[in-house]
Amino acid sequence: MLSVHTSPLHQPGTGDAGGMNVYIVELAKRLAALGIEVEVFTRATTGQLPPAVELAPGVLVRHIDAGPYEGLAKEELPAQLCAFTHGVTQAWAGHRPGYYDLVHSHYWLSGHVGWLAADRWGVPLVHAMHTMAKVKNAALAEGDTPEPQARVIGETQIVRAADRLIANTEGEAEELIRHYDADPDKVAVVHPGVNLERFREADGRAAARERLGLPQDALVPLFAGRIQPLKAPDVLLRAVAELLDRRPALRSRIVVPVVGGPSGSGLAKPEELQKLAARLGIADVVRFRPPVDQERLAMWYRAASVLVMPSYSESFGLVAVEAQACGTPVVAAAVGGLPVAVRDGTSGFLVDGHDPVDYARALERFADAPELADTMGAAAAAHARSFGWDTAAAATAAVYTEAIGERRRRLRSSHV
Ligand code: UDP
Repeated sequence: MLSVHTSPLHQPGTGDAGGMNVYIVELAKRLAALGIEVEVFTRATTGQLPPAVELAPGVLVRHIDAGPYEGLAKEELPAQLCAFTHGVTQAWAGHRPGYYDLVHSHYWLSGHVGWLAADRWGVPLVHAMHTMAKVKNAALAEGDTPEPQARVIGETQIVRAADRLIANTEGEAEELIRHYDADPDKVAVVHPGVNLERFREADGRAAARERLGLPQDALVPLFAGRIQPLKAPDVLLRAVAELLDRRPALRSRIVVPVVGGPSGSGLAKPEELQKLAARLGIADVVRFRPPVDQERLAMWYRAASVLVMPSYSESFGLVAVEAQACGTPVVAAAVGGLPVAVRDGTSGFLVDGHDPVDYARALERFADAPELADTMGAAAAAHARSFGWDTAAAATAAVYTEAIGERRRRLRSSHV
């Protein structure tokens, strides 16, 4: 696997580390359990890293020196891809021929490296976009920076070069075909999974609130994830302000946790959200928390009345499924993978658009009927159980087998 811009060893929820990191860690572990050994190449971001680290039995993370350790933004990484590819091919050169059976690249930067590596090694390239420039640019938050044309060109080249493209949802598969002219026969849909051992109802909401020091009777709408305009945590804050305007009595029993750190274009103004909370006059009810490990995040999910995900674009939205697995309903924007992740009216509510008034209305339902968190939460947990990682890993392994089989058939027929 190739993961140039972010390491599976990084803490997700801030900077460049998010759902993709979690995806790679979980997928690699489950593939290893199926007997598929995985090596993940990633860029070294500090000087003290050993060249290789065992993440789990059968999963090795290899650090490649490419560019300065710190202070290199994702946008500057295209200039380091040659150095990265050099490092990858050097690691390969130490092995017997045929050591790697397949390259699975994640995100377009890795796809560019995978294009060359797979070609050089004579193995199939399986690529997962995770997000796509054309899709992101079509639904930007106001004032957010569009993805550059160079990325669009890079993604187009990878779509052409890849033997298989893995999409998170049918919707993403259609986007690959519509926006990037992907060959439909090459696109496979594999829903990401969620670690159902970690994200579960456990001893429930009351116990989680007690542990986190949250009032038992409070309305707790939670935001969790990387803080940047694309994820629209501001829409949640505006919705809370709107709700409190309508229902001032709620102020004494609402707590709004925001768990995560600045990322992407949000890094330019790291305190923007805190300032917005102050401007909206709700700083007293919002609690900003730095990113936490997933065990602790599970506790925040359980404690919440509802998880709110007003994103402008979301290729899947792992956080939505994780929260549901913990027995918490979700209010989400009806974009990208979220209509797959959330069953509207059953495990949560989908909202069209990003008008805070609509989100305030959805939150009001949970304020008016506190038992909704439990009833919808139970349905949410049942829904989330269909997103286990074992299913996702088995489906990915099937894509690998197909890609390898097809390449062998092609080679055989070219020899006849
Ligand atoms: N996450 C975490 N700690 C935090 C906040 C988020 O470990 O404090 C993880 C979370 O469990 C999820 C991932 O970060 O798996 C975010 O994935 P998602 O698909 O929701 O968003 P992405 O980052 O891919 O845009």
